[in-house]
Amino acid sequence: MTTRHLVLVGGGHAHLEVLRRFAERPEPGLRLTLIAREPRTLYSGMVPGVIARDYELEEATIPLAPLARAAGARFLVDEVCGLDLAASTVRCVSGKTVAFDLVSLDTGGVADLSVPGAAEHAIPARPIAGFVARIGELDEIVRSVNEPALISVVGGGAAGCELALALSMRYRRSAQISLHCGTPRLLPDFPRAAARKVERCLGWRLGRAYTGDPVVTVEEQILQRGYCQSAFFDAVVWATGVAAPPWLRSTALALDERGFVRVDRSLRSVSDPRVFAAGDVAAIEGASVPKAGVWAVRAGPVLAENLRLAARGQALRSWRPQRRALVLINAGWKQAIGIWGPFVFEGEWVWRWKDSIDRRFVARYRIAEPA
Ligand SMILES: Cc1cc2nc3c(=O)[nH]c(=O)nc-3n(C[C@H](O)[C@H](O)[C@H](O)COP(=O)(O)OP(=O)(O)OC[C@H]3O[C@@H](n4cnc5c(N)ncnc54)[C@H](O)[C@@H]3O)c2cc1C
Repeated sequence: MTTRHLVLVGGGHAHLEVLRRFAERPEPGLRLTLIAREPRTLYSGMVPGVIARDYELEEATIPLAPLARAAGARFLVDEVCGLDLAASTVRCVSGKTVAFDLVSLDTGGVADLSVPGAAEHAIPARPIAGFVARIGELDEIVRSVNEPALISVVGGGAAGCELALALSMRYRRSAQISLHCGTPRLLPDFPRAAARKVERCLGWRLGRAYTGDPVVTVEEQILQRGYCQSAFFDAVVWATGVAAPPWLRSTALALDERGFVRVDRSLRSVSDPRVFAAGDVAAIEGASVPKAGVWAVRAGPVLAENLRLAARGQALRSWRPQRRALVLINAGWKQAIGIWGPFVFEGEWVWRWKDSIDRRFVARYRIAEPA
């Protein structure tokens, strides 16, 4: 039997499940390599809780080496910066090239810093590991100003709302948090009641939301908005939508108009049958799948199955993503806001529910390192 080589690029949510499944049931004749920029994956569902000091960073972290080892995969900590389809190789920032028969991308996205000045002056919320690594910078800014520090969070989606609430918990009266979005209200993709609950929670902690006024430029300590006067800040966190990793443009892969990898419902590239993609980096043709961790998680089992089938040369399975997902927003003070379709609910019980779901997720993929 000839051995084929599957290279997994990125330790994202879908690849965690791929590794877990290959650990449970190895595929004869398939060799695995995982390449990830960091040795650990941060579980985004718990990151706002880490910022709010509900959790230690360790509790939200999944080490990749033990999972890779369990799956029989070679693990390289490196950043992929190119994909040469003609040569069937992946290129890494270190200069290393890795040959593949099949390759799967689950690298997530990057922050959309297209607003002038955002790249220079803002702390991007994505990649999430990069944001967490810079939280000390924010702590230092808050410590160094005498007044309550002015922290602006730009982006009124679920990530921006959660970060604003988490930062208001972290700094209490030492900072005033303002949340800015260009849409007429927060959480435009969710029921109005959810937006009202977020605004109310922010208000309790002296924070405020500014809606319907897009930030058009970011200057040194000043946000210029489209309609109203400018806003001053000591620190600005950028949590607007997700953009595609720029290196994808240098590949010959078919991409959508925003630069994400076009895949069919089997998660296979529409332009190259050896390439798969899942999570935020993928754009599934004919399906409207939000760029959120919950969807990357759901793609995991289908991706694992289809990588196995592709390695065997068998027909792939088509994924029909569910229409709805449960959204749970950590509101701080051990409270959470839940959204299920048109229903919105909140309370300590929602936080406890979210806590148990999140802890179970992390536990599923944490494999103890050998002593
Ligand atoms: C503050 C915040 C809170 C959020 N909360 C939630 C939530 O509660 N629920 C929810 O559903 N979604 C949430 N999201 C969105 C969620 O984080 C993303 O949608 C999700 O992480 C995408 O998962 P993924 O598998 O596509 O990639 P990611 O989780 O981004 O993982 C990508 C992995 O690939 C690695 N990588 C990246 N580039 C490379 C490269 N070039 N080479 C090698 N490795 C690479 C990274 O190191 C990382 O390990 C939140 C986002 C933010 C910013």
